Amino acid sequence: MNRTPTRIAVIGAGPGGLTCARVLQRHGVEVTVHDLDASRTARNQGGSLDMQPGTGQYALRAAGLWEEFGALARPEGEQMRLLGRDGRILFDAAPPGEGQGNPEIDRGQLRDLLLDSLDPGTVQWGHKLERAEPLGAGRHRLRFGNGETSEADLIVGADGAWSRVRRLLSDAVPVYTGVTFVETGLNEADTRHPEPAALTGQGTMMALDDNLGLVAQRNSGGHIRVYVGMRTPEDWHRRAGVDLTEPAAVRAALLERFADWGPALHGFLTETDTGYVNRPLFALPVPHTWEHTEGVTLLGDAAHLMSPFSGMGANLAMRDGADLAQALADHPEPDEAVTAYEKILLPRSAEAAEGAAEGIASAFAPDSAEQALAHMTGRH
Ligand SMILES: Cc1cc2nc3c(=O)[nH]c(=O)nc-3n(C[C@H](O)[C@H](O)[C@H](O)COP(=O)(O)OP(=O)(O)OC[C@H]3O[C@@H](n4cnc5c(N)ncnc54)[C@H](O)[C@@H]3O)c2cc1C
Repeated sequence: MNRTPTRIAVIGAGPGGLTCARVLQRHGVEVTVHDLDASRTARNQGGSLDMQPGTGQYALRAAGLWEEFGALARPEGEQMRLLGRDGRILFDAAPPGEGQGNPEIDRGQLRDLLLDSLDPGTVQWGHKLERAEPLGAGRHRLRFGNGETSEADLIVGADGAWSRVRRLLSDAVPVYTGVTFVETGLNEADTRHPEPAALTGQGTMMALDDNLGLVAQRNSGGHIRVYVGMRTPEDWHRRAGVDLTEPAAVRAALLERFADWGPALHGFLTETDTGYVNRPLFALPVPHTWEHTEGVTLLGDAAHLMSPFSGMGANLAMRDGADLAQALADHPEPDEAVTAYEKILLPRSAEAAEGAAEGIASAFAPDSAEQALAHMTGRH
């Protein structure tokens, strides 16, 4: 007997939502993705991600994109360095041999890889979900900011940190972690910024101490993305009278904070080609759970927003997407599929989120230099 296809609406074309859509389509399951961005090029996708074996790599294989990923990945990007606040290299781990590690890829390249793998027209751009109204028996009417509406039998909330879909399941809201990153960047780093480039190496460089930190990360095309981290009140700039739209004012404020760090590290603060973007870090309370509700579920940051010190938010989002899609392909009833998926998702998310909360607490502490060195040299 022919069944009426379940109308699956994925909200959000991030790594999680797109992986879910791709794996569904590989199983012949229909899906539509709605994203608020006006187009695939509307927004810079940000830095580099390492793809980890049990999560991101697993999902890329499930998506049938492992080979194509290999052509784009940067295995050398896995190099990891820890510097002291004086600029000395304290620890330097070279990437493992070929095929063993967590190769890096630019987020933009990963998103393009996933988008190009979908059937044409799968993603509806310019569709910001405003509300989802329950219609009974798990169905919902979706109302978008552009005035359009549609109906779905299953809504997959893959809409990130400030998820609208989450409101259907939980009252939880992201809470400021106490740490802010100010993001900046260096173009053509090896030729134009040789000192920070040499300190960064080919992968990621971290210097952490006394509630402050610098993280510099190689991206493709010779770009280095820099995160200047501070444990600080969320409104630090207002308190300091700093206008965030004035790069000179932000630079001066950052230099003041890092005044007693080695001059070799000051280039990461001052030699910007991209200006400064203030990024307070938020996380959902741990654990974040919800009562199973027919017709709606969550994945990725919508389900388990955690600090980047888990190092695996995007990896988990992709694994979630792959697992949910696989469950929907395996179970004749969507509600059974979602129940099975949430049974795996919730404990896995809680464990990772706990690790992320511990990670950010130790990375921005008075003794973070000692903690980071102990962690990296395996003494923890
Ligand atoms: C500084 C920093 C560094 C990080 N580094 C790493 C790392 O090295 N490794 C790693 O694995 N993770 C990292 N993460 C975490 C990672 O960025 C996230 O966990 C990941 O992007 C989550 O993917 P997602 O698909 O759940 O959501 P997102 O990537 O946030 O995508 C959500 C999508 O939903 C869309 N959307 C939002 N609201 C709506 C709406 N109402 N209607 C329609 N569409 C909507 C958005 O436009 C977006 O495209 C980092 C995070 C930060 C902040």
